[in-house]
Amino acid sequence: MTNTKQTTLNPNTIRHLQNYIAAKAEERGFADETLHERLVLLMEEVGELAKACRKVSHMNVDVNREIHNHVGEEIADVLNMIFAVGIELGVDIESEFLDKESEVDKRHYQRVESHQ
Ligand SMILES: [Mg+2]
Repeated sequence: MTNTKQTTLNPNTIRHLQNYIAAKAEERGFADETLHERLVLLMEEVGELAKACRKVSHMNVDVNREIHNHVGEEIADVLNMIFAVGIELGVDIESEFLDKESEVDKRHYQRVESHQ
């Protein structure tokens, strides 16, 4: 992965990915999945990502069970299922993403001291 700072998004970047995932879902025979099914699959993939992160974070794991999940692969799975949910809902993810980014850009974030 290149590590260049890019603070703008080329038009149709996300839309292209959304259209690609919609076409692949159709091609693979998943186009008839319901919203509920896609949400279940998304949660499953988020769980697999968490498990993979657990491994790379060197948390305690059952030494008798091998964790096969790889973070990059699980991120790709989560991304795929997030798009699948958006597609099922008819959401234009690029438009929503850009609107939200514009909103977040107006915020000012700073760590604050805890007073407990
Ligand atoms: Mg997975």
